[in-house]
Amino acid sequence: MAQAFDGLHWWRDLELAEYLVPATLEEALEMLARYGGRARVVAGGTDVVPALRRREYEVEALVDITRLPGLDQIEQEGETIHIGALVTHAQAAASALLRERAGLLARGCGAVGSPQIRNVGTLAGNLVSGQPAADASIPLLALGAEVTVVSAQGQRRLPLGEFFLDLGRTALDPGREILTRISFPALGPGQGGNFQRLAKRKALTLPMLVCAVKVALDPSRRVIREAAVALGPVAPVPWRERHCEEFLRGAPVTIETIGRAAELAAEHSDPRDSLLRGSRRYRQEMVKVLVRRALEQACAQAGCAVE
Ligand SMILES: Cc1cc2nc3c(=O)[nH]c(=O)nc-3n(C[C@H](O)[C@H](O)[C@H](O)COP(=O)(O)OP(=O)(O)OC[C@H]3O[C@@H](n4cnc5c(N)ncnc54)[C@H](O)[C@@H]3O)c2cc1C
Repeated sequence: MAQAFDGLHWWRDLELAEYLVPATLEEALEMLARYGGRARVVAGGTDVVPALRRREYEVEALVDITRLPGLDQIEQEGETIHIGALVTHAQAAASALLRERAGLLARGCGAVGSPQIRNVGTLAGNLVSGQPAADASIPLLALGAEVTVVSAQGQRRLPLGEFFLDLGRTALDPGREILTRISFPALGPGQGGNFQRLAKRKALTLPMLVCAVKVALDPSRRVIREAAVALGPVAPVPWRERHCEEFLRGAPVTIETIGRAAELAAEHSDPRDSLLRGSRRYRQEMVKVLVRRALEQACAQAGCAVE
């Protein structure tokens, strides 16, 4: 049974007509449909509430999905890991399954904000906010994740490569659709991943750069079969550095290979000059450093130390 939170008044400051708390996914979709695009989902609220206070969105109601059943689990099905829409960064950072089979994601989630933010902020909210350096989005992009999105019209699955459209804008219609699940292949034998973050402090700080990589070696363990290199913020969206990835495909695992790949990533990334995050030139240099470190660690995890 849905509830309206009439007893709580904090949301009235946001000039909302209603704060709705559906008990089922169907109810939540009906509520969104009823508002015809003028309502928005809230999960942890760590992005949406500040954005409403800054008047970035025009919405009449919030649909709080935190009571929906079955969306707070991290599960393995065969070699695929599924993460429900209500899984928080704290849950992901502490998950034994993610630490073992997708360590880059556990580390990314562990780097988000502060314990308070990690305890309520969700990975799904991190994706839907569409920020280019989000600490869960970058490793999920490197892991080749896809999302399941539902609306009153049905369900669709989208690879993250098609999900991020522009700064703060994704392929999800925020007034009509709900992201229910994030799925990606677990790292297996001969594969490795790594997450690197450059920031001024260790907590509660915007990253100057985030980098996540995944590599798969061939059976000899001396040649890279596939690599994914994700970076942010070096473009308006979380970014896969394809030049670097193409160069790595079929290349031997050597210091020279890793060094050239890191240079390519720096040449083709486009960070802005930013007072908060540092100059473009500095960050391009640091892309080189982070990509090199991440690839070395990922190759070592996959079974080949870089020499
Ligand atoms: C102090 C502070 C520090 C922060 N530090 C970091 C940081 O270091 N790194 C980082 O990456 N982020 C950081 N953030 C941003 C934020 O915490 C994360 O992006 C968080 O993961 C958002 O999740 P949420 O559940 O709070 O989303 P919400 O705020 O509830 O929602 C965010 C957006 O996603 C939509 N949404 C949420 N869930 C769904 C869903 N299932 N389906 C459809 N739409 C949905 C909402 O409508 C809204 O548009 C910080 C925020 C704060 C306030």
